[in-house]
Amino acid sequence: MNPTPPRIAIIGAGPGGLTCARVLQRHGVPVTVVDHEASADARPQGGTLDLHRATGQVALLAAGLHDEFTALARPEGQQMRLLDHTAAVLFQHTPADAETDRPEIDRGQLRRLLLHSLAPGTVRWGHFLRTLHPLGDGRHRAEFDDGHTETFDLVIGADGAWSRVRPLLSDATPHYSGVTFVECGFDDADARHPDVARLVGDGTMLASFAGRALIAQRNSHGHLRVYAAFRGSQDWALEAGVQLTDVEAVRSALLDRFAGWDDRLLALLRENDGGFVNRPLFALPVPHTWNHTLGLTLLGDAAHLMTPFSGMGANLAMLDGAELAEALVGHDDADEAVRVYEAALLPRSAEAAEAAARGLANALAPDAPQGSLRHLRRMAGGDGA
Ligand SMILES: Cc1cc2nc3c(=O)[nH]c(=O)nc-3n(C[C@H](O)[C@H](O)[C@H](O)COP(=O)(O)OP(=O)(O)OC[C@H]3O[C@@H](n4cnc5c(N)ncnc54)[C@H](O)[C@@H]3O)c2cc1C
Repeated sequence: MNPTPPRIAIIGAGPGGLTCARVLQRHGVPVTVVDHEASADARPQGGTLDLHRATGQVALLAAGLHDEFTALARPEGQQMRLLDHTAAVLFQHTPADAETDRPEIDRGQLRRLLLHSLAPGTVRWGHFLRTLHPLGDGRHRAEFDDGHTETFDLVIGADGAWSRVRPLLSDATPHYSGVTFVECGFDDADARHPDVARLVGDGTMLASFAGRALIAQRNSHGHLRVYAAFRGSQDWALEAGVQLTDVEAVRSALLDRFAGWDDRLLALLRENDGGFVNRPLFALPVPHTWNHTLGLTLLGDAAHLMTPFSGMGANLAMLDGAELAEALVGHDDADEAVRVYEAALLPRSAEAAEAAARGLANALAPDAPQGSLRHLRRMAGGDGA
């Protein structure tokens, strides 16, 4: 290590940024994380994530948090069901007791696990990075929206889809994928919505047909998260004259889109608790690359935003974070460390982004669910139901 360690800033306290910070701190490297959210609990963290043995779990091992993860994770959440629009089960994978390839964890639990592993005060909440000013020697002056500025030797953009760090490295901007998710949920589903809970099972259920899909995932404490997925304009609601805050109008528009589907599946849209959240899906061009630049790099969605159809976004963000931190720990020269990290990151990201594009095409193809069925059978070695 240099006698004076580089001043490192991580912009963004998502899974990628927090993993990077944890691994750096574990090796005694000082780091500052900033995030524009007001506090750790300012916003619900969303659904469940399956952390894969070769990516997310590798990162947790590097972070020294794998045992804590195992205590929280739900191995039964690895169950996967594929249905068609008649609710016929075409494929089911139910994990064996010892299977730990992809256990599920709620995002909120993962965030707390990572946050609690950091030294107090590591994350400065309520700091929105407005822009970075290159100082010409590899250092950058970060300007925050409250007007204060601070200079860093290395700025790591872990600030997600709409990164403020990325424009200093690349001209690429996320484009609408042509697919929108509309999210809704069920609370205490086993007790209050037993039919829906049985249909979804212990893990993930994908029902798809002719370019539309209903995706449901079990979270902890009996919560079910459901996404209605369809191709169309990202302004679909506006164009249909539907206010996204008008729950009954959104419900009715969705039921129209899924007309002809079995009632057991339509119950996912009819009986949900609370409202609907519109989530148009964006992705960066593939491959997304940049010329190495002294004092800056990216990880996670900031580097390789892809649609959730790879199931890899958070897993890769965490692996990126862990690998970048390990490279920084293992090299006296921080710039050399970033080069080593980027050499592995860029091809890996492109491969995953291509898989996400294929997954989306399969799930929402005109002949769906045939593509997803072929994919799941291939993954399972041909033992589909
Ligand atoms: C509907 C949906 C389902 C998904 N399901 C899965 C799944 O099952 N498995 C999986 O692996 N992935 C999944 N993903 C993808 C996953 O959510 C992301 O890939 C992952 O969260 C990326 O982590 P990250 O740390 O790179 O960025 P993020 O999680 O986006 O975190 C970025 C952080 O940066 C902060 N920030 C942003 N801008 C600024 C700024 N200017 N200044 C300061 N702070 C800033 C934000 O507040 C945020 O905390 C899903 C995504 C969606 C949309």
